Amino acid sequence: MLILVVEDEAEISRLIQLYLEKEGFSCQVCDNGEAALAYQQTLHPDLIILDLMLPKLDGLEVCARIRQSPGVKDPYILMLTARGEEIDRIIGLSTGADDYLIKPFSPRELVARVRALLRRSLRHSQDPPSQSYQTSHFTIDLERRTAQHQIADGITEWLDLTPLEFDLLSTFMSHPGRVWSRQHLIEKLWGEDFFGDERVVDTHIARLRKKIEPDSSQPTYIKTITGVGYRFEDEATTKARG
Ligand code: CA
Repeated sequence: MLILVVEDEAEISRLIQLYLEKEGFSCQVCDNGEAALAYQQTLHPDLIILDLMLPKLDGLEVCARIRQSPGVKDPYILMLTARGEEIDRIIGLSTGADDYLIKPFSPRELVARVRALLRRSLRHSQDPPSQSYQTSHFTIDLERRTAQHQIADGITEWLDLTPLEFDLLSTFMSHPGRVWSRQHLIEKLWGEDFFGDERVVDTHIARLRKKIEPDSSQPTYIKTITGVGYRFEDEATTKARG
């Protein structure tokens, strides 16, 4: 497991590296956005810890470029931000980050978040192969991690999803019609030791809706169940195989 740490404050990046290496992770550290993109291309890290305010390219831009680049491996991205620093944009819809942490944070919390994200990718690599889910409008291939949306009769498009959005959609598609509480989704997607904000679920749902709903303000597929959580509504055409 390789972690790329992108942080221009040497003190902080040294501390992060120290703690992650103590936990047995390999780290590559850099202090600006351009170097981060170069490392991403050559090293294919499993996870990137990305500071928001960076020289040259800021964290949001780096994040957007990584998500747009058709890479062999889409890394998990954990965004670091100072309190009050564009937090709305980070937890809003504009980035492809999987999680965020507000400075100052405790090294223990950072390590817990990193572990939670990486454990998810470990779980996926242990998924039995050749599983797929299909509903009337969506097909998802768990092995290739690809998703298709049938937008009209005979017209399908490939969905460009972040790892978390993909997991969210495949979780929904595994049980169409089932109601999921935020807490249940967190346990399923982040693991039981997640201690962030439940709002993070809403953020990812909103992003996923933007990508799959004809009108994301009036969702057809991902319905909000007031006071409970969410339900995916699309008719299942095949059961899970594999
Ligand atoms: Ca900074």
